[in-house]
Amino acid sequence: MKKRILYLFISFTVLISGCKAVPEKTTQTFFAMNTYMSITLYEENSAEIIGKTINIISELEHLWSVTDENSEIYAINNSFQPVYVSDYTADLIDFSLDMAEKTEGKFDPTIYPVLTAWGFTTGENRVPDKKELSALLPLVDYSKVILEGNTVTLSENMALDSGAVAKGFTGDIVESFLKEQGITSALLDVGGNIQAIGSKPDGTDWEIGLRSPFSDGLAGILEVSDLSVITSGNYERFFIDESGVRYGHIIDPETGYPADNGMASVTVIGNEGRECDALSTALYVMGYEKAVEYWHNNGGFDMILISENGNIFLTPYAAEIFTPESGWNTEIIS
Ligand code: AMP
Ligand code: MG
Repeated sequence: MKKRILYLFISFTVLISGCKAVPEKTTQTFFAMNTYMSITLYEENSAEIIGKTINIISELEHLWSVTDENSEIYAINNSFQPVYVSDYTADLIDFSLDMAEKTEGKFDPTIYPVLTAWGFTTGENRVPDKKELSALLPLVDYSKVILEGNTVTLSENMALDSGAVAKGFTGDIVESFLKEQGITSALLDVGGNIQAIGSKPDGTDWEIGLRSPFSDGLAGILEVSDLSVITSGNYERFFIDESGVRYGHIIDPETGYPADNGMASVTVIGNEGRECDALSTALYVMGYEKAVEYWHNNGGFDMILISENGNIFLTPYAAEIFTPESGWNTEIIS
């Protein structure tokens, strides 16, 4: 009996001494890449790491902004000569061309001239006429982008836009940086797009709100560890013309018109932010049937599709980690 008490005492002391107190949670919100971002950490030196993270994000913004006259994307879009770019930008373009190929051009990083015609780049929105759009459509063609090592060349009047992939890419780069610092538990929110690094320090999942495309409320909660969760939806940026028609910022590269196929939002859950981001945009353009077909044929990710009529469609694993708010109708995609 005495021996058992002694063992109990020893194991209790080992347990206590083995438990290092977790530093307090720090969350900092900041504005970059035209959106609010936040980072949550549980580290002694949170302030220093957050400072370095913000510097990395500013550096990426400086490379990829379409409007900053000193950015690399601006140089590519305005020279039509070979432009030598950083590894980050070469990677971004290489990956984008790859995803454009995989999605048969539904995601197309050369959409910028059409996006400009709709005024989404300046905020002065307008509805271009059919003639104007058909004149611009030949400029939207990822297969004409030449990338040789770190050198990029565009044909005259073509232009790149990193808007559909930059935030996911940024999430991946920040994740690598944090992991290099030995951080195993952090949450990065890039304008509603989530990069979850590990789980919470107590081992439980991060709880992520999935926004309703129809209100400021939530459609439900996702519980994730070590995953990216990225959403595309036309509720994020849109305008309504005099006759009450709504136009969103995600464009079908085939027609030059905002994708309008009954989808309200597409959320992609996967291991890499960049892939989730490119896919969320592409699957949004594809619409329900084609998105499901793409998932069947390619796999490697999960998705949540919310239709304009308010139904939520989830792949089986997404359904496992998602709890809808009351009143939402859910269906599992098979
Ligand atoms: P996301 O919110 O990730 O779906 O990205 C949408 C942004 O990507 C838009 O604001 C545009 O800058 C750009 N974009 C719009 N349509 C496309 C498209 N079909 N392919 C690639 N980028 C697009
Ligand atoms: Mg995207």
